[in-house]
This record gives sequence, C-alpha cells and structure tokens, in this order.
Amino acid sequence: MRITDIRLTELRGSVESEEDFWEERLVRPLDVYPEHKHELDQSIAGARNAQGAYDLAWAFVTVETDEGVTGLAGPLDEAEAYVIDTQITPHLIGADPLATERIWDQLYRRLIHGRTGQPMFAVSAVDTALWDLKGKWLGQPLYRLLGGPVRREIPAYASALGYSLDPARAAARARQFAAEGYTATKWFPRCAPDDGEPGARRNLELMRALREAVGSDVEIMLDAWSSWNVRYTLDMARRMAEYRPRWIEEPVKSDDLLGYGRLRAASPVPIAGGEHAYTRWGARDYMRAMAVDVYQADTMWAGGISEMQKIAVICSVYDVPLIPHGASVPVNAHLSAALPPTLCPYIEYLVKWNELRQFFFEEPVRPIDGMIAPSDAPGVGWEIDQDKVTAARELRWR
Ligand SMILES: [Mg+2]
Repeated sequence: MRITDIRLTELRGSVESEEDFWEERLVRPLDVYPEHKHELDQSIAGARNAQGAYDLAWAFVTVETDEGVTGLAGPLDEAEAYVIDTQITPHLIGADPLATERIWDQLYRRLIHGRTGQPMFAVSAVDTALWDLKGKWLGQPLYRLLGGPVRREIPAYASALGYSLDPARAAARARQFAAEGYTATKWFPRCAPDDGEPGARRNLELMRALREAVGSDVEIMLDAWSSWNVRYTLDMARRMAEYRPRWIEEPVKSDDLLGYGRLRAASPVPIAGGEHAYTRWGARDYMRAMAVDVYQADTMWAGGISEMQKIAVICSVYDVPLIPHGASVPVNAHLSAALPPTLCPYIEYLVKWNELRQFFFEEPVRPIDGMIAPSDAPGVGWEIDQDKVTAARELRWR
C-alpha cells in the first residue's frame, strides 16, 4: 500500500447558541499589558454571525492510498494545514502508510526547524491520520492497535473553560457537573499577580465557592495558563490548601522548568503542566526537572499517537500520571483506554470547546455519567457529518 495524496479540506458550519457561548476567557501571559488585559481572546470568543450563530471553519486532513483505505484527522487551523501541504505531503507521496515509526522519524529529521509548536501540530495530525488509516485497514479500533483495552471507559473531568467565574454561577455549574456524574472539574481563575491582593482574594473566593458547591468527594483543579509566577503560586497554594485542589496547572511559563521544580518541591498543592511541551524530549526535560505531579502533553500537539506512546513510557518510569490535554477527546479516549488507570487516571473534557472541536463529527465522543469510552469503529471512529457542512473547499498551496 502506498500514499497517493494528502488532502486538506476546510469545512464551514455554524453552531447555534441562544446565549453568549463564551461567558469568560482564561487568563493569558499577555494580560500583563494593560491594552490586552480586557480584550476578548478571538480564538476563544469566536465570531457570531448576523443570525446569532457562531461560524466555524476547520480544516481536516485525509491521507489517501492506492488501496482506497483512507485516514482522517482534525480539526486543524490553516497554518497547520499549510505545513502539511507544503512540507509534509511532498515527502510522503509513495510512502508505506502503515510504517508510522519510519514516517515519524523521517518527518522529525526533515522538519528540523519544526520540532515544536505548529509544525509539530502538523506532524501530530498526519501521524494520527495514519493510525486512523491503520485501524481501518486492519478493521480494528485504535485502542486495540495500542494494546488495549486496559479498560473500557475512563473517568472524564469537566474542564470549565469559558464559563462565568462569578462565584455563585461557577458554584451552580460545578453542582451541575457533579449531578451529571463527573467526579472532577477544572476551572480557570482569571486573576494574576498584577491583580494584587484583591485578585488573589477573587481566586480564593472562586476556589472556596467551588469546594462548598461540590462537597469533599469531587476533585477540583485550577489552571493558570502560564500566567502566574513561583511566589504568587506558592501563596495561592498555601491559602487554597484547606480546599484541597487536586492540582494547580501551568502556574509558570512552559520554559521555566527551574521554576516548576522549585514550586513542586515547596507547594502543598500538586503541580500540573506540559500541554505546551512537545515530543519525548519535552517530556524528558519535565521529568528530569521534577517539574510536575501530572504531565499533560497533548496528543494532537506533542507528536501524535506514535510520540504519545513514548511520552507515556517516560511518564511511567518517573511515576508521573499522564493526563493528555484535551484538544482531541476522540483520540485521547483510545490512548487512555490502552494505558493503565494509575498512569492515566482521567481524561480531560473541555465542556464548551468540544461542542466546537467535535462539531463536524457524526458521533462526537461525550461523557456518559462522567465516563468516556472510545469508539469501537475501525481506526479512531471519527467521520464527517456532511449534514453539518455548509461549505467546503480544498486547501492546496503546492
Ligand atoms: Mg491547561
């Protein structure tokens, strides 16, 4: 079997939402600049059209072969699609699509300036499409190819990006998550060191409201999205410890592994991070620095399925749980179902984001009673629901 083409297709559609879909955004490192502190984040806010719906435009990659078997991955943005079309596709025409290890190694060596960031997103997407193809060719769901099932379903945590942080509204939402069967929920406090003591108290108030809302049996995590610092995080961790947060995520910049190490050694609250780290070497650096209690590489960013298998091995050696960042729930469901529960105790489910990221799929993978199960269809099990596509165009730059 040989690869004959790699197609990139941009799909358009719109999501109905009676109310403002995004109620709040997360704190960002850029917010230290006053002119950016109060702006909407367009990548989060989305564009509302004249009819009040939210327009989506996502790209998907399809690997085609001379045997008619195909592999799908996405959604991607146009920058990632560009890297695939101009730098990856020319190298893969004629390649054996089942030789995923050979292809990954060749792409890594070829994209010597693209070992992190969006070029690695592009590698991740192609690798994932190849695993989808491999599953379809073998007639088996992806989790079987990865050595699973270790278990049939994985506990999901409700990641509350985009929900209001007003303590009463957040508390009501957290209670709703618990009633839906979730045993854990993650929140994104908006205040950072430059908000001073009033901001610190607002973060604390959010944590207290969440804990009082869900009681002692539901885990609560906080995500600072690289926007705090060591001293501020230690202060927050000590003041929040009585509410037993499960972890504080990305408290400092992804490159500040010394800061992570200092923090983890001193913090009464566990430290999580790694969604902005890439490949096995990123995982090695985090583990060596004793940076985190939970590692969160993203399958669709850090190198795809092939690389996540290596990252999982590295994490297991250091006895650090790997809870992949939730850019792709359908893929993470397979990966997590093929890993031991101690290594992968949860799967992240970004409640709002998945309505957008999985919008075009025939069967979005959603939690039932707080548990997520991978598809039993061959490959990843994701297919495009053409009824949701209002327009489609091929993306090609070559
Ligand atoms: Mg995060």
